[in-house]
Amino acid sequence: MIHPLREDRDVPGWLASHGLPGLVDLHVHFLPDRVMTKLWDFFDDALTHYGTHWPIRYRLPEDERLATLRGLGVVAFAPLVYPHKPGMAAWLNSWAGDFARRTPDAVPTATFYPEPGAADYLAEALSAGARCVKAHVQVGGYDPRDPLLEPVWGLLAEAGVPAVVHCGNGPVPGAHTGLDVFAEVLARHPRLVAVLAHAGMPDYAGALDLVARYPNVHLDTTMVGVAFSEAMAPLPADWAGRLADVADRVVLGSDYPNIPYDYVEQLRAIADWASADDRLGPAFLRAVLHDTPARLLGLPR
Ligand SMILES: [Zn+2]
Repeated sequence: MIHPLREDRDVPGWLASHGLPGLVDLHVHFLPDRVMTKLWDFFDDALTHYGTHWPIRYRLPEDERLATLRGLGVVAFAPLVYPHKPGMAAWLNSWAGDFARRTPDAVPTATFYPEPGAADYLAEALSAGARCVKAHVQVGGYDPRDPLLEPVWGLLAEAGVPAVVHCGNGPVPGAHTGLDVFAEVLARHPRLVAVLAHAGMPDYAGALDLVARYPNVHLDTTMVGVAFSEAMAPLPADWAGRLADVADRVVLGSDYPNIPYDYVEQLRAIADWASADDRLGPAFLRAVLHDTPARLLGLPR
């Protein structure tokens, strides 16, 4: 019997009914309290910034946010950090290292900004154990082709550490967003293990094209297919069918806690794709929700 999936509290029973060992969420945000508070204040003004209300669903103290995530059946996650200005990334990296040391289910992560020394502090973070990196082209407002980032992409490609890259034009375009821009980075670093955040939203076709062209490019599901996003950036009608060709390169991402809806909605969207195409089904669910993100994050099998 497949357990229903209506509310957050249904998730553990639903996972068990599918024989899934838990969720591995590759796109979650934890930040120093002061930074998270500023981010939440920004979302309070989302109508101005994004043209839509964006009430943060899980606006909770850090310990409650962790307990809620675990209660959803998340067994491992990548707490992504990112800077919006220079001089901040190295500090975020040391915070992320500390956070992972005190949080056994969090993998150590890191980030960077185009600035002198970026390759050095990133190399340091990688040797300290960082296993996932976030690049936020939209919030950072930088060009991913910046010459200062050449050694950074090179380092990541060499290390095989996944880079979750927000380079799509959603929710609003940045100065250097667009999958065509990031495609130039991939052309120079074709072995880069890249995870296109939000599946490139709204350019889903462009994201699928990059996955087809580069064997190490992946998509994350973050905010994809939920009602909130469908209203702004609807998926193509043949989405589930197109996923069947790249089923081993899709990973669970949620943007928890900064989402304006319940976590379960993301899982329902993914479950709907799985049942919409016979080539997907339970094997796809297991790959997306657990196995593929676990492999990218280097979790023990
Ligand atoms: Zn995010």
